[in-house]
Amino acid sequence: MPPYQLQLTTEVKYLKGVGPARAELLASRGIRTVEDLLYYTPFRYEDRTHLTAISNLIPGQMATILAKVLTCGLIRTRRGLSIYEVAATDASGAARPRMIRCKWFNGGYIERNKVFCAGQQIFFYGKAEQDPYGTGNLQMIQPQFEIVPENNEGEKESLEVGRLVPIYESIGRIGPRVLRRLLRSALESLGGRIPDTLPPSVRIKNRLVDRATAFHLSHFPDGEQPIENLSRFRTPAQIRLIFEEFFNVSAGLALKRHKAKTVPGIEFRVTEEVRRNIKTILPFHPTKAQKRVLKEIVDDMRSPHPMNRLLQGDVGSGKTIVAVQAALLAMANGYQAALMAPTEILATQHYLSVRQLLEPLPYTADLLISGRKAGDKKSLKTRIARGETSLVVGTHALIESDVEFAKLGLVVVDEQHRFGVLQRYQLIRKGPQPDVLVMTATPIPRTLALTLYGDLDFSVIDELPPNRSPITTHLVEESARSQAFEFVRGKVRTGQQAYVVYPIIEESSKLDLRPAVKMFEHLSINVFPEFKVGLLHGRLTSSEKEDVMRRFKQGEIQILVSTTVVEVGVDVPNATLMLIEHAERFGLAQLHQLRGRIGRGSKKSHCLLFAADPRSPESDERLRTMTETTDGFKISEIDLKLRGPGEFFGTRQWGIPAFRIANVLRDQEILEWAKGEAADFAEHPPSPNEFQAYVKFLRQNWSRRYGLAGVA
Ligand code: ADP
Ligand code: MG
Repeated sequence: MPPYQLQLTTEVKYLKGVGPARAELLASRGIRTVEDLLYYTPFRYEDRTHLTAISNLIPGQMATILAKVLTCGLIRTRRGLSIYEVAATDASGAARPRMIRCKWFNGGYIERNKVFCAGQQIFFYGKAEQDPYGTGNLQMIQPQFEIVPENNEGEKESLEVGRLVPIYESIGRIGPRVLRRLLRSALESLGGRIPDTLPPSVRIKNRLVDRATAFHLSHFPDGEQPIENLSRFRTPAQIRLIFEEFFNVSAGLALKRHKAKTVPGIEFRVTEEVRRNIKTILPFHPTKAQKRVLKEIVDDMRSPHPMNRLLQGDVGSGKTIVAVQAALLAMANGYQAALMAPTEILATQHYLSVRQLLEPLPYTADLLISGRKAGDKKSLKTRIARGETSLVVGTHALIESDVEFAKLGLVVVDEQHRFGVLQRYQLIRKGPQPDVLVMTATPIPRTLALTLYGDLDFSVIDELPPNRSPITTHLVEESARSQAFEFVRGKVRTGQQAYVVYPIIEESSKLDLRPAVKMFEHLSINVFPEFKVGLLHGRLTSSEKEDVMRRFKQGEIQILVSTTVVEVGVDVPNATLMLIEHAERFGLAQLHQLRGRIGRGSKKSHCLLFAADPRSPESDERLRTMTETTDGFKISEIDLKLRGPGEFFGTRQWGIPAFRIANVLRDQEILEWAKGEAADFAEHPPSPNEFQAYVKFLRQNWSRRYGLAGVA
């Protein structure tokens, strides 16, 4: 046996060509082991088996050329633009060599970094176009490029020419060329020593290529596969890797959920009294969707295992009352319930409406937020620990370590996406095995939710309460500002109320707050002197916030200038107008949340999006989406497309794993397929041996790979 053999688990720093600096860069992308490196797959491939001669370039088509730099440098146009230009010609020495110009706008950085010099051989990949000056020459605007090093002869085999070439996204200063070499050498040293991780029966049944082949051919395709399939990530090798990733996640979630169903929990009993109470508190007829969802929740709570349910419902769909009904079931069985909300405003509002709802019943509700006086908090905590209060509404303050419940039976987390998964667990741990309901008003596309929230059961309120009149949304350009204010004036005169929302980045800093405060002064003094204008932001104390909200709710304040603290949950049906300043700066999900504050009563509501120039095409599309639809699911789908899965799911707050090769947008059909196979495997394992081996693999790799808690 050789003294040292490369393994999948070997750290990349032991690879030839990786020193401490590169190892650190790689680690910044989560690449620590050779296996991690193998999962860093190309985002594109270039067909350099067929280099195009410059004289054969067809305008409008993408092509790769290999050319030699004649001249290069920065050119300043009369309009003050600086364009970096490289003039290059075919290296082939053809009879009539043709020239091409490659151009980069604002190319000062290229000049400064001395990227190009005459004589270099360079691959350019881009779209050929006619030179606009009628010289008959061609140009490429901002092509991708790769400089061929001068001393390229020593290599056994070229990784850059005469083949399908993998193009990797650079990692800092580690460019595609270096990555190609690292991957080639890692794959060569490993040879076939890449064990398969998929259960053999699954691999055979689905005719998937083995893992070693999949890695080899994904990084260095052999030319058997059409480049179109490679570009679409649909060669057998790529499909296999995508399938594997989805399968592991789906199987892990299926097993986790399976296990949760065997843990003993509280078996709540539905008595006549519970039924009566649930009816008593209802101020209105529940919608069909609310009834269906309540039944799903109650069924879970009656079962002998803990509930783990996600309740999705668009803003204003009426989730709160469903949660309170679930709390009634817990309280009637002698248990306490906790309702955690992300902001003090929201918690306070929930508390006030819960207290009102519970009025006719013998249950006490309390509010635990950090803004309350220390003495009050202390005595409240004592009451919670003694079981003297049945329903505790609160913020993060609920998960502080000195909060102890006498008998916590139900945990409700509102606006799930505002809390990390960890915070949810911190609250759950305050009871022996409480039932858990998480609620969110930020829908994610349904198919994805069903597939990816595998460890939670899933309920949807897909219907708004009756008598809601639709919201009309208008885009207001700067020039139409005063007209828009007149429109608002007309409505407020008739007794309706308005929100004016101002974006600020950091509520904790006074500096950032200034524009919102200025706006408030401007509106109250110059624009709407005849109305009472209020101001709400995150730096007010709890009691100040409460006071402003109360006065707005009672109609004493007619126009409320606010930062995004009103984004979630705030409920004032008489408010029918929402003005959003600098709407171009907000994301779609946030705009949708904000707009959800209006349209809650029977009067027609209007949302006015004030947008400043200049705007990016993307923000234009966001604004257009807002004016075209109010359907939260549709909006979330567009949001996902605009931002891409990486950013959309962002910081793991969704509890959705970050995939390395798979892309939930591009690969939805593989996701459905893998999920079906994973469920099948979890329910009908082929043989105990195969099952055990796979579960062992998942356990060892699960948390590191997908950042989720243990399986099975
Ligand atoms: P969200 O789902 O955004 O949390 P809420 O629970 O705050 O929505 O409900 C929004 C508003 O609709 C509240 O004023 C609530 O009282 C009211 N509401 C909820 N369900 C119904 C219903 N079935 N009929 C009439 N009004 C309802
Ligand atoms: Mg709500």
